[in-house]
Amino acid sequence: MNEYLRFASSSSDYSSSEYVIVGVPFDLTSSYRAGTAAAPDGIRKASYGFEPYMFDYGLSLSECRIHDMGDIECDDQDIAREHIRKTAKTLFSDEKFPIFIGGEHSITPHIISQSKDIYVLILDAHLDYRDTYEGNINSHATVSRRVSELEIQGMKIFGVRSISQSEMESDDKPDFISSYDIHEDGGELLKMAKELKGDVYLSIDMDVFDPSYAPGVGNPEPYGLAPIHCKRLLNLISHKLVGLDIVETNPRYDSGEITVNLAARLIYDVIGARSSIVG
Ligand code: MN
Ligand code: MN
Repeated sequence: MNEYLRFASSSSDYSSSEYVIVGVPFDLTSSYRAGTAAAPDGIRKASYGFEPYMFDYGLSLSECRIHDMGDIECDDQDIAREHIRKTAKTLFSDEKFPIFIGGEHSITPHIISQSKDIYVLILDAHLDYRDTYEGNINSHATVSRRVSELEIQGMKIFGVRSISQSEMESDDKPDFISSYDIHEDGGELLKMAKELKGDVYLSIDMDVFDPSYAPGVGNPEPYGLAPIHCKRLLNLISHKLVGLDIVETNPRYDSGEITVNLAARLIYDVIGARSSIVG
């Protein structure tokens, strides 16, 4: 772990914390625009810009027991993945609520591999269901395929609008709702969210949002979700959540810090929504 900046209100020590933030500046398989390694600290800096009191949840972020562990060293792919798995294993077995800040999306399967009996909900513009990409099975473009191979209860992907022909034609492609469907009928998204059973792990690829809301991503795709779609979803599923990653923020292509701000605010909302229900 490096010298680090901490997320706002993360004043708890590890043992008394409920939420544990881990930066994962992993940026080693990006296919188009590299730069996600700067995201954890960019999002931490942005986290100081908000009012800690969240009136809609009736609580302040400073009341929530948050610990920030700093960053996992990510100079070497294999060593970094090993550290991600080890850290995830410790956090799940200590019954913490982990919040991993990427880094690229390829970190997600390594986190989920250390949990048990969870349902996985992914928000992403891309289906990410290729078996390999550029010869790499651990690419950002193979995330949902790798997750589907794990022992999980199920998986759904919301907000998709980019699928390769071979992914579309594969018999075992994952359940998804496109962003077009969500714009057409937001109720459908909420209905499916309500039907999710058991413990839910949420992976937010920031490119699920429209580039006008989140320009700082590696692979921007028009026709994306609005932040309010995500907030409504969080409010419905927060009591089921057992962990979160928020990935693919790319400060190098951000504009006016829009994307790091949204990512930081989403972390507030996940903690706020969950704490207001769990207590
Ligand atoms: Mn992705
Ligand atoms: Mn994506």
